[in-house]
Amino acid sequence: MIKKYYLLSPGPTPIPDEVLAVAAQPIIHHRTPEFSEIFMQVTEGLKYVFQTQEDVFILTSSGSGAMETAIVNTLSPGDTVISISGGKFGERWAAICRAYGVNVREIVLEWGADFSPDELAAELKANPGVKAVLSTLSETSSGAIYDIKGYGEVVAKTEAVLVVDGISGLGATPCPMDEWKVDIMVSGSQKSFMIPPGLAYIAFSSKAWKCVETAKLPRFYFDAKKAKKNLQKKTTPWTPAVSLIIQQKKALDIIKAEGLEGILEHHRVLGEATRSGVKALGLELLAKNPGNILTAVKVPDGIDGVQLVKTMQGKYKAYIAGAQDPNKGRFFRIAHLGYMGGFDVITSLSALELTLADLGFSFEKGRSVAAAGSVLRENWK
Ligand SMILES: *Cc1c(COP(=O)(O)O)cnc(C)c1O
Repeated sequence: MIKKYYLLSPGPTPIPDEVLAVAAQPIIHHRTPEFSEIFMQVTEGLKYVFQTQEDVFILTSSGSGAMETAIVNTLSPGDTVISISGGKFGERWAAICRAYGVNVREIVLEWGADFSPDELAAELKANPGVKAVLSTLSETSSGAIYDIKGYGEVVAKTEAVLVVDGISGLGATPCPMDEWKVDIMVSGSQKSFMIPPGLAYIAFSSKAWKCVETAKLPRFYFDAKKAKKNLQKKTTPWTPAVSLIIQQKKALDIIKAEGLEGILEHHRVLGEATRSGVKALGLELLAKNPGNILTAVKVPDGIDGVQLVKTMQGKYKAYIAGAQDPNKGRFFRIAHLGYMGGFDVITSLSALELTLADLGFSFEKGRSVAAAGSVLRENWK
């Protein structure tokens, strides 16, 4: 058989053909009016997805570069932060802080567990003087989403700033930056933004800019003030990834044509279809509060989770994601974000059923596809 490759991972995600085609155009120089115009259109488009009046800065780096930008521009050595670690990416906040000599009060959650705004309020009360709360909109390692709106209400009453990693969640699940009182929002290009890896996005509230004024951590490439000064001149401090920015313009055109609300509703339907499909097989979800970005599914008893992912990827070329360490083999992750359609959910579930049959799991064949299909059909617009 021809082994067709199905990218069903939570990043990089598939890219629309018309966005891919843009990358084949001859490169243009970045210090030109032509490029500046595109660059500013992308900046505006990002503000729309972020739902903010603040500037959104485009960094040439992967998403983690925007996370580092958030930390080094707002904190000083010896500052204390609260970091909500619900998985691999929450842990990254704490790791960046430690690398820069910031004290971290790390709240380590079981993967997939929730953390309420009330619990956060109690933590802030018990730790006065905290400079920032570091959180994740969609924890891509577990499929859980967190109550950023609730965190925003709690943190706004304090001196601290709320920093949100929206690298997989923004543009797939609601998180209007200004309305929800997010002080620093970061995102990346290879998840819901429908372009390849290589760009990161970040915006600061006025409360966060005040921190920038006093922050003493060392920084050079990721200096927010340099980015701001250059944005006023419609450019970037360093050579940006020109082709990626032009691709982002095209992908943002698609997002704007659909409308952010339509895009979020699309993800809601794909999330619901996927969840109903896996539940129809008698499988359990990992996250207490699963998002519409990806679905993490517990590996059923008696099935080897590493073998399951290996079979889906190796035999069926259905590139879902496994679980990261230390949970390798315990669950697997089906993504449904960015440029994925209803039939990508069907593909994932079909490949999952074939794999489960190969591994000797007993279930009624076709049930997941039927269940997901009814959700899709009821919601198809
Ligand atoms: C993908 C992802 C990251 C890491 O981004 P890189 O682009 O790999 O640096 C961070 N946080 C979350 C929630 C992600 O999904």
